[in-house]
Amino acid sequence: MLSKYGFRFTKSLGQNFLIDGNIVRKIVDVAEISEEDNVVEIGPGVGTLTEELALRAKKVVAVEIDEKLRELHKETLNIENVKVIYGDFLDLDLKKLTKEEFGDEDFKVVANLPYYVTTPIIEKLILAKVNLISITVMVQREVAKRLSAEPGSKDYGSLSVFINYYTDCKYKFQVPSSVFMPKPNVDSAVVNLKMINREEIDTEFLFKVVRASFNTRRKTILNSLSNSKLNYTKEEIKRALELSGIDERRRAETLKLEEFIILSVNFKSVG
Ligand code: SAM
Repeated sequence: MLSKYGFRFTKSLGQNFLIDGNIVRKIVDVAEISEEDNVVEIGPGVGTLTEELALRAKKVVAVEIDEKLRELHKETLNIENVKVIYGDFLDLDLKKLTKEEFGDEDFKVVANLPYYVTTPIIEKLILAKVNLISITVMVQREVAKRLSAEPGSKDYGSLSVFINYYTDCKYKFQVPSSVFMPKPNVDSAVVNLKMINREEIDTEFLFKVVRASFNTRRKTILNSLSNSKLNYTKEEIKRALELSGIDERRRAETLKLEEFIILSVNFKSVG
């Protein structure tokens, strides 16, 4: 199909296409797609995953940046319940698009993400305030580990805390590089993130505290926060930690999400 349309891969767009039907089906199984589901796919490529999604879902809206795939899609994605939109997913008004395509109905995201923009895409989805139920994505294995990391592990960082705040994230399975064309240099993995509805809190400040805490991973939480851009004195930081029941000698990588939340709330009463 690719040679028929004279398609050339663009490495900078993260174009590593899936060529293994079993993996494609496994991804859609993990996403738990049924005929009631609306789906958004980011980067359909040739359309391998899109076709499987179309078989199982009510409607699939796929967003592809590469206009060169337009002609090829007329053959591969000429499917009744599939709509392809051309453009950069990061520039797209997701609220407007999903309202137009799905009305007030919920939707799920399923994608084999372009690796150069994995985190911005996931952040956009999570913060978009849309009717999103879950995100099932293939990402670099290292990123999958960071997204789903638990406190105390070496992969646990501010990204893990962010993900853990907004979603229930599960590492599902590893995927060898041999199932892609062209073959990437790294292994991949599939993660499933189910959106969580939380009470409104000052998340901007919460994640400021989280980032400041991980500023210097190897240092104690007290030193890390004292040397960060957070505008608090060492005494105030000590007091906030004490009020939160957090030993100042601990390291950020041992703190659970709930502890970061309590800490950020207590900062407001010491400043
Ligand atoms: N879904 C296909 C598959 O599994 O074989 C292709 C996956 S490939 C890893 C990533 C796809 O995302 C490519 O088709 C690429 O052109 C597209 N892409 C890259 N950056 C994008 C962006 N910012 N917005 C939308 N699509 C993008």
